[in-house]
Amino acid sequence: MTQNNQYIMALDQGTTSSRAIIFDRNGKIVGISQKDFKQHFPKPGWVEHDPKEIWDSQSAVMIEVMTQQDIHPNQLAAIGITNQRETTVLWERSSGKPIYPAIVWQDRRTANFCNQLKEQAGLSEKINDKTGLIIDAYFSATKIKWILDHVEGAREKAEKGEICFGTIDTWLIWKLTGGEEHLTDMTNASRTMIFNIHEKKWDDELLQLFDIPKAILPEVKSCSEVYCQTAGDILNDKIPIAGIAGDQQAALFGQMCTEPGMAKTTYGTGCFLVMNTGTQPVKSNNQLLTTVAWQIGEEVNYALEGSVFIGGAAIQWLRDGIEFFGHAKESEKLAMQLEDNEGVYFVPALTGLGAPHWDQNARGAFFGITRGTSIAHMTRAALEAIAYQVCDVLKAMEKDSGAKTIEMRVDGGASANNFLMQFQSDILQCNIKRPKITETTALGAAYLAGLAVGYWESVEEIQQLWETDKTFGPQMDNSKVEHYLHFWHKAVDRAKNWIEE
Ligand code: ADP
Repeated sequence: MTQNNQYIMALDQGTTSSRAIIFDRNGKIVGISQKDFKQHFPKPGWVEHDPKEIWDSQSAVMIEVMTQQDIHPNQLAAIGITNQRETTVLWERSSGKPIYPAIVWQDRRTANFCNQLKEQAGLSEKINDKTGLIIDAYFSATKIKWILDHVEGAREKAEKGEICFGTIDTWLIWKLTGGEEHLTDMTNASRTMIFNIHEKKWDDELLQLFDIPKAILPEVKSCSEVYCQTAGDILNDKIPIAGIAGDQQAALFGQMCTEPGMAKTTYGTGCFLVMNTGTQPVKSNNQLLTTVAWQIGEEVNYALEGSVFIGGAAIQWLRDGIEFFGHAKESEKLAMQLEDNEGVYFVPALTGLGAPHWDQNARGAFFGITRGTSIAHMTRAALEAIAYQVCDVLKAMEKDSGAKTIEMRVDGGASANNFLMQFQSDILQCNIKRPKITETTALGAAYLAGLAVGYWESVEEIQQLWETDKTFGPQMDNSKVEHYLHFWHKAVDRAKNWIEE
């Protein structure tokens, strides 16, 4: 048994900031420290990070939060790591020096190469069968190939085993252990497009296709086990590193969506949906991604994943672009002024439409405007649109998995909006739960690490800790739901295929 003054520290290495959060035995936050770091855009469509800056910011917040809370290294039972996924770093094994900046998941430099791959007969299907992914520049494989092709001498060194590849979890563990450990977990591996999610190993055929030498790859571990300890000089003590998961998977675990049919949605700039599908991977017919949710012990859980491009960003646009209001939260009051949408719909296809509509040429549009239409109508339409889009993705997940959603758990900035959450529950006709602790990503990493060292005894024990802030239950008549969805889909159809190329 661990003592009462023990804590778990989660390192949450995100796309724009590094954070360290300390949790206590009740899963409550004891302290948070956060540092932003620089985004580099060297050419249109390129996005890079400096791996050294990622490490410097991450180690700084780690020390800062402990100092602030006066927590000593020997009070940390374990460290868990969660990270921006797919972002790719290559470094020299002997010196630990990166051979190129980190290529960030958003980077599109390999998009043309991906388009060429898609044209090869049967290749999209093969890659989807093995990895659960759709060929895209997001995933690490083409980023690794790009670095090996463009940095002089890199490929030769890689073939001799003198180069290491890692996603950000791997890079942090390398740094935390003073270059002793080169490993990753199955969730991060499942986003590289070279990992076979059925055989649970790096895929030789795909490695050949992307021309990636096996010698650069990290060892793939589960999400919850003592992998190693921090090097003595990092925190002046050796602390077990015992949990790893990519950000979306960590959030699914932090939301304790541990049963098949449980889903979580993060309402941020975009909306990110992940549904637990149990121990069998489910293939999507709606271009959703199939991915590893987590591995604990020998058991692997899988998930379906889909996202909506414009979620909270619709409200941001009304606030900053159209200047309807000064604060995003005012949207709730405006929407609640109305009993009904009175026929006004908004399709937020500001950058095209993602899953399950997939139309790059769609553009945003309001429909049903009359002389009586006010700011309240348009704001309500934007909030409703967030809910409709999430509904469309969730229905696609249900179709793919054959499971009805038992419950959806929510987090992210826009989940604070009570109108949106109630409307979401009505449209989905399912319960929505908003937790007390919305730092679910970090919490998931903490849970995974704590489980591995016996800080928490079992998933069941953690389920007891998970507390609801508010539950939203469906209150709307079926006929009304159908009416709303009918007009929403009519609006989507009219917004599609707007741009002519
Ligand atoms: P990200 O991590 O993507 O930056 P956050 O989780 O911080 O996003 O959420 C911010 C987004 O949520 C913004 O797009 C903002 O417009 C929206 N948002 C924040 N609060 C509310 C609210 N009360 N109602 C509706 N939208 C909101």
